[in-house]
Amino acid sequence: MKSKTRMIPSFSFKSTSFSALLFLFFLFSCQNEKKEFLALDISLLEAVHEQYQEKSITERRFKHAQAMPLVKGRLDGHFVVEEIGKSVEGKEIFQMTIGDGPTKVMLWSQMHGNESTATMALFDLFNFLEAKDDDFEDLRNTLKSKLTLRFIPMVNPDGMDNWTRRNAFDIDLNRDAIKQTSPEAIVLKNARDNFSPAFGFNLHDQQVYYNVSQTEKPATISVLAPAYNYATEVNDVRKNAMQVIVGMNRVLQQIVPGQVGKYDDAFEPRAFGDNFQKWGTSTILIESGGYKDDPEKQYIRKLNFIIILNALSEIANGSHDQYVLEDYYKIPDNDLKLMDLILKNLALVKNETNYGVDLGIRRREADANDSFFVNGTIDDLGDLSVFYGFEEFDAAGMEVVQGKIYETSFKNPEEITMEKSIELLKKGFLGVKVIESLDRQSHAFPILLLKNKTEIPTGIEMGGSPNFFLAKDGKLKYAVVNGYLIDLENPATQSYRQKVM
Ligand SMILES: [Zn+2]
Repeated sequence: MKSKTRMIPSFSFKSTSFSALLFLFFLFSCQNEKKEFLALDISLLEAVHEQYQEKSITERRFKHAQAMPLVKGRLDGHFVVEEIGKSVEGKEIFQMTIGDGPTKVMLWSQMHGNESTATMALFDLFNFLEAKDDDFEDLRNTLKSKLTLRFIPMVNPDGMDNWTRRNAFDIDLNRDAIKQTSPEAIVLKNARDNFSPAFGFNLHDQQVYYNVSQTEKPATISVLAPAYNYATEVNDVRKNAMQVIVGMNRVLQQIVPGQVGKYDDAFEPRAFGDNFQKWGTSTILIESGGYKDDPEKQYIRKLNFIIILNALSEIANGSHDQYVLEDYYKIPDNDLKLMDLILKNLALVKNETNYGVDLGIRRREADANDSFFVNGTIDDLGDLSVFYGFEEFDAAGMEVVQGKIYETSFKNPEEITMEKSIELLKKGFLGVKVIESLDRQSHAFPILLLKNKTEIPTGIEMGGSPNFFLAKDGKLKYAVVNGYLIDLENPATQSYRQKVM
């Protein structure tokens, strides 16, 4: 707009050209206004999700068999549902098609088995797309008449069931676009070749520790229009993807301001996204990251639904065309500077030398008996001023005190309670012995349950176990148990998910 205003004086000497320019300007403005109008309202997008959220899936770690009814159950409905191949372990991979419009759009999710957030959003979208006689009929009809939508909701069923990134050959499908060693990678490549979509949505999850560069905000959603060559050039195919992303970011900034990051666009010649772009499909990468107090990513699922629906609507109406690439490049970069807990200014002594450090703790997930627990570890220590914590605590003036093991054994974890745990912590016990329990059984108490271990694992070092007390003037104030910070006077009622060790 600014540049157009500046152009006017130089044309003012030639009245005809000036009038022509004014007319063009007028047309451009009208077109712009119309397109602005077509961009969807946040409250509408939220209302659609509210109404059509798939209620049978509420946690991230659902299994392939559990999700199959949401695919095969649609065999006789509005979708054309087709089996397009099988995984290494023989599980079916389906594609689902709806709409008969001229612009073809393909969306695929969970090529990495343990990245299910977008899959849940796609199930919500299916509910919306096949419904009728509601307040959103215009939107639905626009999508179905302007677009042909093809979904492949679970590209890696074996990885899903084993909750691993890779497939049953232990191959990363996203590095197998060219070599085509895995049956799942062959399925995805064939699906693209048979359909030749104009647009592609490549749907993933990223670690929750990604933040928006130089801010404490998590990169709740990260985006990328992948490069198609090492020079990271921009042709029309990639430009279209960038424009759709600008529209998605516009929506996200209204809901989760400052929580969108952009991935590095270094070309990866083996990845699907980069190759889809190269093969002529405008490809949009969406990565679901972390959001405070959303461990099952249900809020992020909703964000996925909202931005995908918005993007499809913009593609259907052509309104993505209004966005400028400058706004794509303005999206801040992703960084990996988040920790679950940062303890600042911890005073320590070693070899009779005093020193002070910040301690960065991450609590990563690990599998156990069809469930999972988290393992707190010290990921970094020293000057951590460039890192950010989901939780931060200034431990200045406090000393580290080692915890003891309670001498009486409990029969099993069921004999322990939250109250008992806190009572023992206050007396300086950080661990209790249990006699009977499964190995690596998960529990939610804020104290260590020891079955095989005879000592409390602890150590303020890289990779060390964050299990100790913080005391002030000789009085225990806080416990750090498996990387959870517990205020002994005012303990939070939450799940302190960890394992029996
Ligand atoms: Zn992924």
